[in-house]
Amino acid sequence: MIKLHDKYFKPYISAEEIDDAVTKMAQDIADDLGDEVPVFIGILNGSFMLVSDFVKKYPKACEVTFIKLASYEGVKSTEDIQRLIGLTQDLTGRTVVILEDIIDTGNTLHEVHRIFNNEGVKQLLIATLFYKPEAYKKDFKIHYIGKDIPNKFIVGYGLDYDGLGRDLPQVYQLKTTQHMTNLVLFGPPGAGKGTQANFLKEKYNLVHISTGDVFRYNIKNETALGNLAKSYIDKGALVPDQVTIDMLEAEVEKNADAKGFIFDGFPRNVTQAEALDKILENKDSKVNAMVALEVEDEVLVKRLLERGKTSGRKDDSDESIIRNRIKVYYNETAILKDYYSAQDKYFGVDGVGNIEDITERLCNTIDKL
Ligand code: AMP
Repeated sequence: MIKLHDKYFKPYISAEEIDDAVTKMAQDIADDLGDEVPVFIGILNGSFMLVSDFVKKYPKACEVTFIKLASYEGVKSTEDIQRLIGLTQDLTGRTVVILEDIIDTGNTLHEVHRIFNNEGVKQLLIATLFYKPEAYKKDFKIHYIGKDIPNKFIVGYGLDYDGLGRDLPQVYQLKTTQHMTNLVLFGPPGAGKGTQANFLKEKYNLVHISTGDVFRYNIKNETALGNLAKSYIDKGALVPDQVTIDMLEAEVEKNADAKGFIFDGFPRNVTQAEALDKILENKDSKVNAMVALEVEDEVLVKRLLERGKTSGRKDDSDESIIRNRIKVYYNETAILKDYYSAQDKYFGVDGVGNIEDITERLCNTIDKL
């Protein structure tokens, strides 16, 4: 990770990857242009490094020049693109290839087209090393693209953040998310995860996501997701992974400003645990700990039957369904203890006793993280 001014950036595209993309662009353009001697025009400042590398790789004769359009200031693209400087050469009848380091909204491209419309060029081709499809708002054709990237701010390889970072040989991406604390609250059905999550979310200012609650909400509202999940839940079986993972990701995305999450009922197997790692990694974050409530089976069965008298949950009122849920936990879910232990993230807590005592035990564990 690097710091430029006040912001942190993480490595994103390696020098090797950039080199491959530039080589391919040079080859593709050379193949298409045949014996034509093109004029490559770099747009300063950002494109200086690309143009230098590109022309070294271009296998045939070419001309190179630069123009300058002041465009980016700080992190946000500014709308007012200033005037063009530096075009002194007569380009009448020439094949011009604009070399851009990055195309995002397409505002610069708009300006380029406006200017080159009056130059009488034979053809105007646009080549860019990086392209942000989500940000691009114009209709101009982009003829050559080195690499599509998501709509995130990047620096390096000619691109700057307030003047810094242009010299970096690789590309870095802005770290956008604040530091988060993410807990997986773990334990068999009836261990008290939901009850404890309610205390912990207040105390630590975290967002509580219970996949079971989200499924039940969807069942109650008869959504497509609810209808799909119902048949599994009623039997005490797990809902298919991809359905559950997509749902969880949507819940995480809904809470973009969260200081962290308590995951309750998720992950329930290694596939889900790996998916959670990816989801959090995309937010520059990770699971900090799995905090597990440990309770014996017979206590669980008694607790769930008791809860079933008032919860209205079908899967809490039938002893054989309850036992099946506990069995599913041991067969498919308990293995996650190994997954998180291997990363030194597993913390077992005695889940038997009164609610306040158990909360205190959990807090003692979490405070030490
Ligand atoms: P819970 O409220 O956590 O006991 O979950 C109730 C039921 O919802 C489970 O028995 C499953 O059918 C379903 N469910 C909840 N979370 C998951 C998950 N992570 N993966 C698959 N199914 C789940």
